[in-house]
Amino acid sequence: MSTTNSDALARLHRAREKKVKAPRKAIAKVSEKKKAEIAAEGNKPRQPLQRNTQFKKGDGRSEKMRGVMAAIKPLYRDFLEKKPECEIQSPECTYEATCVHHTAGRSVNKIMDVKTWKASCDACNSYVEVHDDWARKRGFKVGRHSKDNS
Ligand SMILES: [Zn+2]
Repeated sequence: MSTTNSDALARLHRAREKKVKAPRKAIAKVSEKKKAEIAAEGNKPRQPLQRNTQFKKGDGRSEKMRGVMAAIKPLYRDFLEKKPECEIQSPECTYEATCVHHTAGRSVNKIMDVKTWKASCDACNSYVEVHDDWARKRGFKVGRHSKDNS
């Protein structure tokens, strides 16, 4: 009886030792993963209130814009693959389209409208910003948003 008891106790001790060690290993593994997750997320707070708070502060638009910009990048890439040549061709054109010019501006509502997109080189993208009239006459700028208010 006593032998059996001490055997049982020894087994219990071993089991306890294992039990104590096992979860520590598991926790260590999880925390490594967690570290990577946190690093990937850039310590972004997870509270559901965060969005509402930012929206009330007036950052709602920029948060939406961040989402739009993330969604639009692959669309830009596809667009420029189909249209590798600059469509604006200003006097300063370098011909190779590297970016997308938005003829109707880049507001949240207009930016996703591919009909308002023009494949543009860097030079032309700057040119239409500076030469508002030139761009408007050629339809590279449309809408009410005018720099010279004419
Ligand atoms: Zn160009």
